[in-house]
Amino acid sequence: MKMGCLIALFVAVIFLVYAAEESVMIKKIVKPDAEWKKQLTCEQYRVIRKKGTERPYSGEYWDHKERGVYACIGCGADLFLSNAKFDSGCGWPSYFKPVNKRAITEHQDTTLGILRTEVVCSKCDAHLGHVFSDGPPPTGLRYCINSVSINFRKEPSPAAEKNMLKKKR
Ligand SMILES: [Zn+2]
Repeated sequence: MKMGCLIALFVAVIFLVYAAEESVMIKKIVKPDAEWKKQLTCEQYRVIRKKGTERPYSGEYWDHKERGVYACIGCGADLFLSNAKFDSGCGWPSYFKPVNKRAITEHQDTTLGILRTEVVCSKCDAHLGHVFSDGPPPTGLRYCINSVSINFRKEPSPAAEKNMLKKKR
């Protein structure tokens, strides 16, 4: 009986720690529409707040190959790394996985009369694009993302980092 209680307590503690961590990790950003309008350009607002889509081959990043991080244009949360980007030939930046599972939330989308999976930023609910199951290994997924929803941040190369350290000394 005592052992059973201990196990139940242990499970409860693990659950609480996990739940607390989960709520700390993703702090939602909620703003009135007027504030988003002020912060974003018309095109950014149309895509990320109104679930729009940029024209294929028109965005800044579909053919972008630099090393770095792609972050949410709405809140700055890191979403994708350049080492998960691949050339899908569809005219939008494509990734086979997000930076981590929590960064992105999936929703069912039936707006075009077909079932698709919409992906949004977990932190600010910005519409990013859709995920399809015709991607390359290792995941087989294709996160098809609007360039306008993301902002690229260059990651310094190891050589550049070394130089910076030298200069600091
Ligand atoms: Zn965001």
